[in-house]
Amino acid sequence: MVQSAVLGFPRIGAFRELKKSTEAYWNGKITADQLLATGKEIRAHNWKLQKDAGVDIIASNDFSFYDQILDLSALFNVIPSRYTKYNLPALDTYFAMARGLQRKATETTKAVDVPALEMVKWFDSNYHYVRPTFSHSTTFKLNGSKPVDEYLEAKALGIETRPVVAGPVSFLYLGKSDKDSLDLEPISLLEKLLPVYAELLKKLAAAGAKTVQIDEPTLVLDLPKNVQAAFKTAYDYLASVEGVPELILTTYFGDVTPNLDAIKGLKVAGFHFDFVRDPEQLESVASILNDKQILSVGIVDGRNIWKNDFASSIALVKKAIEKVGSDRVVVATSSSLLHTPVDLANEKKLDPEIKDWFSFATQKLDEVVTIAKAVSGADVTDKLAANAKSVKSRKEHEITNDSAVRKRMSEITDDLTHRKSPFPKRLAIQKEEFHLPLFPTTTIGSFPQTKEIRVTRNKFSKGKISEEEYTAFIKKQIQEVVKFQEDIGLDVLVHGEPERNDMVQYFGERLKGFAFTTNGWVQSYGSRYVRPPIIVGDVSRPGPMTVKTSVYAQSITKKPMKGMLTGPVTILRWSFPRDDVSQKTQALQLALSLRDEVEDLEKAGINVVQVDEPALREGLPLRAGAERSAYLKWAAESFRLATSGVKDSTQIHSHFCYSDLDPNHIKALDADVVSIEFSKKDDPNYIQEFANYPNHIGLGLFDIHSPRVPSEEEFVARIGEILKIYQPEKFWCNPDCGLKTRKWPETTASLTNMVAAAKYYRNKY
Ligand code: GLN
Ligand code: ZN
Repeated sequence: MVQSAVLGFPRIGAFRELKKSTEAYWNGKITADQLLATGKEIRAHNWKLQKDAGVDIIASNDFSFYDQILDLSALFNVIPSRYTKYNLPALDTYFAMARGLQRKATETTKAVDVPALEMVKWFDSNYHYVRPTFSHSTTFKLNGSKPVDEYLEAKALGIETRPVVAGPVSFLYLGKSDKDSLDLEPISLLEKLLPVYAELLKKLAAAGAKTVQIDEPTLVLDLPKNVQAAFKTAYDYLASVEGVPELILTTYFGDVTPNLDAIKGLKVAGFHFDFVRDPEQLESVASILNDKQILSVGIVDGRNIWKNDFASSIALVKKAIEKVGSDRVVVATSSSLLHTPVDLANEKKLDPEIKDWFSFATQKLDEVVTIAKAVSGADVTDKLAANAKSVKSRKEHEITNDSAVRKRMSEITDDLTHRKSPFPKRLAIQKEEFHLPLFPTTTIGSFPQTKEIRVTRNKFSKGKISEEEYTAFIKKQIQEVVKFQEDIGLDVLVHGEPERNDMVQYFGERLKGFAFTTNGWVQSYGSRYVRPPIIVGDVSRPGPMTVKTSVYAQSITKKPMKGMLTGPVTILRWSFPRDDVSQKTQALQLALSLRDEVEDLEKAGINVVQVDEPALREGLPLRAGAERSAYLKWAAESFRLATSGVKDSTQIHSHFCYSDLDPNHIKALDADVVSIEFSKKDDPNYIQEFANYPNHIGLGLFDIHSPRVPSEEEFVARIGEILKIYQPEKFWCNPDCGLKTRKWPETTASLTNMVAAAKYYRNKY
C-alpha cells in the first residue's frame, strides 16, 4: 500500500478555540495551565481526526501557541537578552518576543518594557513568522522539549506521529542579525547550531520517533552559494551523529530544481516536494534519489480550497511510482494544511453547488487517503466518480464566464493605467489643494475595533438590529474617531473602518464573483486569523462600496479625509484565488471594479484616496526570472488601472507592510504618498534604499502589533535618525499599519506622542 501523509494540520481549532484561550491568557482571564490545556485538547482532537480519516503519517509538533518558527527560537535559546533579563516564566518570555510586553512595576515585580521581535511574511503566503534574531552572544542550547513532549503526548493517545521541525539551514537563513550584531551573517552560525539540532533529534528518536519531517522550504528560493553549500554541511553532520532518526527533507511552495545540486547525495531517508506548485519538477527531482530514498509527493494543495482533481493527481502519482516504485512513494499534502480553513462541514450558508467545489483541511485528509488508495489498487470508484462530477460542474458553471466583464477586460488600454500628469506636477497642484504642514501626520486607516463594534456588526449581520440602527451606530463611531484625530492634531484623517470586519472580506462581500465562509478562519499571525473570501467567478462591482461612509466622514471635518480601499493585488492575494484563470486576469478584473469606486469617491468630493497594497510583496514569485518580472508588471498595472482615473489634484495614497519591500516595486505604482511599515527596520541599507524613493513617503514610526507605547523622546530620536538620510519635505509620520487590533489607551498615547514629535521637528525646520 502506498502511504498517505499530512505535513501539518491547522492548530487554531475548528471554532477558533486557540485564539479565545490565548487572548484570555494575555488579558489575565485564564491561567497558563488553562491555556496549556486548550493546546492539549486541540492537538488530541487533530491527531484523532487524522487517524480516523485513515492518514498513515500524521505530524506532531505542528502545533504552536503563536508561531512554529518562534517556537524553535525559544527551543534553541535564540532569545535576545532584552527578553531574558526580566526572568519571566518561559511562556511569558515567548509571548514577549512575539508581541512585546509593557508592564508597570508592582510590589513584587519589576516594570517590563520590551518591543516584539520582527514579524514577516512566510514565503508567498499571508502567514507571518517571527524572525529568529541572532547576535554574537547567541548561545544555542536546548531550552525545552516541546517536540518530544508533543510526540509523547500523541503516543500516549495511541497515535504514532512524525514530528516536524524546521531545518537548520532554513532556520538560520530566515532569520536576521540583531541590531548590535549587524555584521553577523546568521548562516555562519550553522556549525554551532548543528550539535543542538542533533541533540533534539536524538531525543526524538529516544522517545520512539522513527522519522522526522525536517522542513527546508528555503530550497524554493534563489540561494547564495554559501547557503546552498550549507545543506551538505548540515545533513552530512546529522547523518554522522549516532542516534539521529531518519529525516524526510521537506520543501514546499515552489520548485526545487535550481537548488538540486544542494540536496543531491544528501544522506536523508527521503524528500518531499510540492507538485501542486510544480508538477514538472518530477523528472528532475526523481533523478537525484538513490535507490532507497522515499519520494513524498505533495499533491493535495495546502494553500487553496479547491477540491482536488483526482484524475490528474492520480496520473501524477502513478508517474512517480513508475520512477521509484510504489514502496517508496508517499501521497501527501503539498505543504502543511495550516493555510486552509479547518472544516467545510461547518459551512451552512454556502450555495450547495458551489460548496461542492471546495475542500478544507478536514476534507483534504480524505483526499490524500483516497489518492493513496486509488494508486494502490483499492476500489474507490464511487469517490472518483463523485469527484469527477464536481470538477465538471465547476468548469461548466456560468459564474466562471461573465461576458460583460470579459468585454471590459478586452478594452483596457495603456492610457487607462497612467495618471494625467507626472508626480512633480501633481505635487504642485496638491500643495495648493491641501496646504499640509511639514511632516504631515496620518494613520493607516483602522482604529481600535472595540468589542462593542464587533458585537454590533455581528448583530447587524445576523439581522438582530435594523439597518437604521446600525448606520446610526457606525456614524457615531466615525464621529468619535474624527473628533479624536482632530483633538490630537493629526493632519490627514481617516474614518476608522468600524464597518469593516476585514479589509478584503468587506470588498469581497460587495463584489460579484465571490463566495464567503462563515467559519473559514486561517491563521495570519499569532491570534490574528482571517477568513479569506473565495474568488469563484468573474469579478465586477454592482454598485458603490464605500462612498456613503467616506462622504459622511468628510462632512464632519474640515481636514482632508482619506477614502480607504483595498488594492487589487491584496484582494486577490488575501482571497482564495481561482485556479482556472490567471492571477493577472483576476487582478485586472478587481482593478476595474476599484477604478469605478475611486472615481465615484472623487465625484463625491473625496480628494484623498488610499488604496492599500500590503500584499504586493507577498505576491512576488519567490524566484527571480520571467514569472517575477511579469508579476511586477501586472501588479503595478492593476494598481494604476484602479487609481489613474482621477484628477491631478486628487491625492492617491498607498500602504505596504509585513515584509522587506523593494522601493522599485513601489515606485512602479506611482502613488502620490506611500506609507510603509518601518519601525522595526534597522538595517542601514534598507533605510537608505527608501531615501531615494521619488514620491512622498510615510515611514511607520511605531509597531502596531504590540501594545507598547513609545515615548515622545523615542519618536523624536527615531525621526532624528531618519532625517539624517531623508529629505524632510518628502517625509510623513504615521504608524506601521492600521490600529484595529490595538486598544484605545495605547492608541491614544502612541499617536499623541507621535504628533508631538512631528511638531517638534516642524518647529526645528
Ligand atoms: N487600511 C487598513 C487598516 O488600517 C490597512 C491594513 C493593512 O495594511 N494590513 O486596517
Ligand atoms: Zn499594513
